[in-house]
Amino acid sequence: MTDLCQSCNSCGMPFSNPADRYQNSPYCVYCTNSDGSLKTYSQVLSDTVNHLVKHQGIDAAVAHEIANSTLKDLPAWKENKI
Ligand SMILES: [Zn+2]
Repeated sequence: MTDLCQSCNSCGMPFSNPADRYQNSPYCVYCTNSDGSLKTYSQVLSDTVNHLVKHQGIDAAVAHEIANSTLKDLPAWKENKI
């Protein structure tokens, strides 16, 4: 087990609750479609922005920048070169 297995490889959310993880995939339930495939970058990005705005009260434009710079360093997007 590496650290990568402890958090979502797409959005970086820690799997603090086993229900947050989509079965045995390296992704959380929020980053996957109902069949377990990874959502597109733009879907994950907008979900992350919404989460930051809603739960952390961050301004949408700032949240977008934070989400963008966070996601592009994560394994799911790093290798795909969006
Ligand atoms: Zn995720």
